[in-house]
Amino acid sequence: MIPVLLRSGHRSGGSAVRDLANASRLWREADGPVVPATPLYGIPPRGAGTGEVESLFSHLLTLSYEQRLSPRQVVSHVLPGVEEKLGVLATCPSHKVGWAWDRHAGKEMVGMHESAARWVRVMEAATGLTGLRFSTLLPLELLTTGNLITSEERVCLDCLAADKASGEKPYGRLLWRLRPVTCCPLHRKRLLAPVCGRTGRAAAADYGRVKLSGVCASCGSIGHRCSKQEPGDAGPDEVWRAEQCLRVLAALPSIERSGPAPVRTAVRALCSGRGAVSSLAFRAGAPKSVLTQWLKNEEWRLSFEQLLDICAVEEVDLAELLQGRVVASPGAAGLAPSRVRRRRDPVDHEAIRSALALAVTEERSVTDVARALRVDLATLAKHRDLYVPVREATARRNAAAEEARHLAAIQKVETMASHLAERGKRLTHRNALREGANRFAPSSVESVVLSVMRTALGGRKANGPAVAARLGPRYLQRISEAAGRLRPEIGEAQIPLPLQAD
Ligand SMILES: [Zn+2]
Ligand SMILES: [Zn+2]
Repeated sequence: MIPVLLRSGHRSGGSAVRDLANASRLWREADGPVVPATPLYGIPPRGAGTGEVESLFSHLLTLSYEQRLSPRQVVSHVLPGVEEKLGVLATCPSHKVGWAWDRHAGKEMVGMHESAARWVRVMEAATGLTGLRFSTLLPLELLTTGNLITSEERVCLDCLAADKASGEKPYGRLLWRLRPVTCCPLHRKRLLAPVCGRTGRAAAADYGRVKLSGVCASCGSIGHRCSKQEPGDAGPDEVWRAEQCLRVLAALPSIERSGPAPVRTAVRALCSGRGAVSSLAFRAGAPKSVLTQWLKNEEWRLSFEQLLDICAVEEVDLAELLQGRVVASPGAAGLAPSRVRRRRDPVDHEAIRSALALAVTEERSVTDVARALRVDLATLAKHRDLYVPVREATARRNAAAEEARHLAAIQKVETMASHLAERGKRLTHRNALREGANRFAPSSVESVVLSVMRTALGGRKANGPAVAARLGPRYLQRISEAAGRLRPEIGEAQIPLPLQAD
């Protein structure tokens, strides 16, 4: 028998999820050092200070679960208030806490860039905890670069089973989100992107279900025991890389304190002999010029995988190297670099020019062209007269596509609202969920549109004003128009939306 988690209480009676009004009151009435205490106070991430630290994304899901709130309630109602109190203004919508927060399993939240920093600030204020940055890759920001975080959650089934055996709830390790990590270093098995193996289960309950890392989102099986996938055994090189990453995560606080200088000192020490830089570059699959420049300039960053390759060929420990120490890591012996040395084909500028000229009519972006011709963007940009129009055309296409998505979302909500009105049902998220074919995911833009639409139609409980700020004035205008069309059917007084330019 597979245990099934409580479903959250978006249904009447016997609700497992707290009423939001209670949660907000708890938060307002409590005291705290930075901002008034939120319902999330004081529950630290699991495995803090070790290589098995919980990712910030999993931590957010855990906190929500512990408080019997859905993560969506926390993200849309608790955290924006905290952010407002902190007085931080988002410079770009994608950095805003709450916006598309669960896209790619919270990839932005656990990475090493601006949006992760914002999440950490807000989550620390909301929980009263410190050190949440060590549940992200922020400490590596000045040391390395690369697209390090996977877009999906992966798990080690054995680790989840161990969580469960120890009486704990399962949690998502930050380690499992690192792209270079392909296996669990403890169980030496490959990580899996879990797929529910139980059939005949519609995803109907997704909206209401409590979300938790390590729990199947389809059937609720704790530890993904429903998965029928077999994690293969990992090879020694995979295990070595995963171990290196585990050790880096465990050492994040001291690595961050070290800053970008010591790792260069350590690599210089490796390259003390004549011609050693060339030799290291060759063996580690790095262009020599890149390695030389990196050694000279602290603003230069090597990709994380490149650093791992250097450690692999030199048989040294990455966590130590990042702190300026050369310490042997015997497991690395004889491992070939994972990266393939880049071929230096001569650049065919004629081919580039004709590909760029065609790109506008063929609706291809500069990235598409660069990929097809195997050149980098800087090479393409040398042909500025052709490069700039291609980029502009791409931007126009993206804007048009976004507009179309907006219109489609509004259309969908409007159709659904009109169906509900025909049957004399109120326009609520709960009723919307029961609209079979027109159902939408809670984090989808349709859900935001619905909130704004409800407010525009006079719903006092809807959080339209709070979410309306996320949508641009053009979008609000269109929702307002749709609300105007719906008004005769719904028969309630319409409240004008606060339309202002942003
Ligand atoms: Zn494991
Ligand atoms: Zn399942």
